[in-house]
Amino acid sequence: MASLEGGSSKDRKGKKPHKNKPVSKKYAHYKVSGDKITRDKYCPRCGAGIFLANHKTRLYCGKCKYTEFIKK
Ligand SMILES: [Zn+2]
Repeated sequence: MASLEGGSSKDRKGKKPHKNKPVSKKYAHYKVSGDKITRDKYCPRCGAGIFLANHKTRLYCGKCKYTEFIKK
């Protein structure tokens, strides 16, 4: 019987290789333009601090799945 533990040559658990995130993405939400600091819109459900992801046509909260459509 083959041992289930121990490093074999193959990773067969189907885990995707995780890329290291160098910097927290949170900081990308803060933009300094001139002497103004603008922030991305945050989730009205989760409150300040939980930012909505920016998509082309909508903003999306990854925490509570709140979606807000952007009017153009
Ligand atoms: Zn939310």
